[in-house]
Amino acid sequence: MQSTPTPLASPSRRDLLTGLGLAAAAPLLLGVTDRPTAPSLPSARPAPHGGTILLRGAALVLTMDPALGSGPLGAVEDADVLMRNGVIVAVGTALRRPPGARVVDASGKLIVPGFVDTHTHLWQAVIRGGCTDRDLFGWFAGCTDPQRARLTPAALHSFVRLAALDAVQSGVTTLVDWVDIFAYDLIESYVRALAGTGVRFTYAMFPPGPDATLVTKVKRELLDPVPLGSFQVATHAARAVQDLNRAHWEAAQDLGVMLNSHVLERPEQRADDPIGVLGDIGALGPRLLINHAVHLTDAEISAVAEHDVRAAHCPLSNMRLGSGIMRLSEFRRRGVKVGLGLDGGTNDSSDFHALMKTAIGLQRARATDAGVFPQVEDVLRMATLGGAEALGIADRVGSLTPGKRADLVIIDPAALNFAPRFDWVGQIVFNGRPENVDAVFVDGRALKLGGRLVDIDTARVVREAEAAATRLRAAG
Ligand SMILES: [Zn+2]
Repeated sequence: MQSTPTPLASPSRRDLLTGLGLAAAAPLLLGVTDRPTAPSLPSARPAPHGGTILLRGAALVLTMDPALGSGPLGAVEDADVLMRNGVIVAVGTALRRPPGARVVDASGKLIVPGFVDTHTHLWQAVIRGGCTDRDLFGWFAGCTDPQRARLTPAALHSFVRLAALDAVQSGVTTLVDWVDIFAYDLIESYVRALAGTGVRFTYAMFPPGPDATLVTKVKRELLDPVPLGSFQVATHAARAVQDLNRAHWEAAQDLGVMLNSHVLERPEQRADDPIGVLGDIGALGPRLLINHAVHLTDAEISAVAEHDVRAAHCPLSNMRLGSGIMRLSEFRRRGVKVGLGLDGGTNDSSDFHALMKTAIGLQRARATDAGVFPQVEDVLRMATLGGAEALGIADRVGSLTPGKRADLVIIDPAALNFAPRFDWVGQIVFNGRPENVDAVFVDGRALKLGGRLVDIDTARVVREAEAAATRLRAAG
């Protein structure tokens, strides 16, 4: 099958571009067409970059690079951002418009680097709102496991596509998806759905056994050809499966990628001794990403810090499942690189503003102290550059430093829930919502403009996911 791109002159997009004065830029700005939804289509094409684009006159740009502006977030007032061929070229006041550059009017708006979701499970969109009175284990038994067993490639594609687009519209430009054991046709469908959205992504594959053949095949055949795709090996560290963990770590080393493990999300998982296992197999190091990490002892946090292990903090999920509250201040005090994660279905949405607010709120509620780590500047950094550092990709994304890939978000604060201006930095975290995300650029390409996903028939995406969910329920 071939893709069936949406005609370039579709009225909705034409209206949108005309409103922005960008109609002539359509081929450059909107290189994405509505991606195929069937799983048997060829791999997504290399993502075309967006040419030269000048974002003009933002009220505030948080570059996350102190060398570019004031304070720890590198703030620049009344600034422009220039992108060329997918790369940040400059951030500054009254930048000269290069010949041929497209101009996007960002006056009155806020620009931040794109959000980096360090831990998710997009396919779990199928169980949104489910098992709301269960803890982690009840949620596995009641929602995750039964649905996973019934997935088809087509259904999986529709759920992943839905959730990935939801993440994009919320300002997520990079995501790491920890994916359960799936057969090759399901993996193929999963990767194709991700690649079709234009988001920067990592597929963390949980191999079915110790044999690395399938892992290597998936990386080489499915991930390596996708320009914005990358690969990790996923595992569940536990004494009972220590040999399997070791095989997964060896596969990760052979492929030169990170190992990605859930660790001590629940207190009951103390019996698994995951940090001890990861230490015994030699995996503690900067090539290890641990998720949740709620119930670590002081000694374990110290070991994580000493070895420069990276961590994904998932406060919305931890709150929803009653898992506990990560000891974020202890990780911070010891210098651990920590990013934020939405964690798929357990938070039921891709709202990164809610995620940042919750990361602050849980720590304050536990400490009964509004001064504890993290503050708004801290969570904004964790949501962007901190996440990139945790993933080892901060040389490419996470800040608006010239030379990095152009992943950024434009936020429009002219909304009932956001205005009037008091402190935009605080308002991004405490007032922001996905609907305030006006534009999203990944690798210099507009995936969302004027508050709408570019070239995506959202109603169709929803319809297909709804139909797939209905079929799965009927099959049960
Ligand atoms: Zn998870």
